[in-house]
Amino acid sequence: MGRVFVAGSINMDVVATADRHPRVGETVAGRQVLYFPGGKGANQAVAASRLGARTTLIGGLGKDSFGTELKAFLGDQGIDLGYVSETSAAHTGTAIITVAEADNTIVVIPGTNALVGADDVSVVPLLRGDVAVSQFEIPLPTIAAFFRRARSTQATTLLNPAPAQTFGRDLLELVDILVLNETELGYLAGVDLSEDDEPARIMDVARRLRAREEQTICVTLGKRGVLALAGREEIAVPGRVVKAVDTTGAGDCFVGALAAQLADGATLPTALTFANAAASISVQRMGAGPSMPTATEVAAIVN
Ligand code: ATP
Repeated sequence: MGRVFVAGSINMDVVATADRHPRVGETVAGRQVLYFPGGKGANQAVAASRLGARTTLIGGLGKDSFGTELKAFLGDQGIDLGYVSETSAAHTGTAIITVAEADNTIVVIPGTNALVGADDVSVVPLLRGDVAVSQFEIPLPTIAAFFRRARSTQATTLLNPAPAQTFGRDLLELVDILVLNETELGYLAGVDLSEDDEPARIMDVARRLRAREEQTICVTLGKRGVLALAGREEIAVPGRVVKAVDTTGAGDCFVGALAAQLADGATLPTALTFANAAASISVQRMGAGPSMPTATEVAAIVN
C-alpha cells in the first residue's frame, strides 16, 4: 500500500459572524467568533488520513499560537508532520472570514505558506506507488520541484489547481492527474463553463486542456458528481442525493479521498466512486477539516 504526500497550505480560518457587513470605516458588533483548521493542503491531508491512508503533510507553520493549535489538530488526525517546518520568519497562514446576510468576505494572509520552498520538498521519501498531491496555496516553483522529485521516484502526481491561477505548460507536463471544478477548468481553458453545461462540452474542454493523452483529468461538478477523462476512456459518476448544509471543503475531501484510494491500489473508477461518496458525506457537516469522513462511514454507503 502506497502513501499520500501532500505539499500544501495550512491555515487557521477565523470566522466572525454578524447581522450585517460593516461599511468601509465602520465597526459593527458581531455575534460569534469561530476557529476552524483549514488551508487546502491541510484539509486534503486530513481527508486522506481519516480515510486510512498513511499521510505525510509538507508545509510551514509559524511559531505562534495558531501554529501550536494546528499542529495539535493535525497530529490528532494521525498525519505525519515530520516535514512541516516551524519558523519565526512569518505568522501561520490565516484566513479572516466575515459571514453576514448569508454572504461572506475573506482576507487570506499566506504567512508561512508562502515560505514553503524547494528545499522543503526535495528530501521527501517518495516511492513508486505513492501519491504526491498539491494545490495552488504554496509557491508554484515549490510544486514543480515536488512533482519533479515525485516523477523521479515513479510516484503519481496529482494537482488540484485551486484557487485558479494561470500556470506554465512545464508544470502541467509534470502532472499525472488533474482534479478541478468546472469553473477552474473554464478559467484555465479560457472559456465560460458552469455546473449546468453538458457533460460532452465539459469533456471536450478537458480534452483540449490536457498536456498529453495519458494525463487524467477529473472535473468535479458539485451535486452533479464528477466526470473524468483517462486516455480515451470517459467516466461519469453521478452525484449522490443528500441534504447539503455546508459545501466548504467538498473539493478538498474529494482530492484527499481520491489520493487515498489510488495509493491503496484502487482503479480509477473505484477511486472516483469512493471519493464522490466521501465528499457527499462532508457536505452534510459544517466546516472543512472537521467534516471529513472516515473509511467506515464511506464504506457504509458504497457497495
Ligand atoms: P469547494 O470549493 O466548495 O470545496 P469545489 O467547487 O472544489 O468545492 P465541488 O465540485 O463543488 O468542488 O464538489 C466536489 C465534490 O463534492 C463533487 O464532485 C461531489 O462528489 C461532492 N459534492 C459537492 N456538493 C455536493 C452536493 N450538494 N451533494 C452531493 N455531493 C456533493
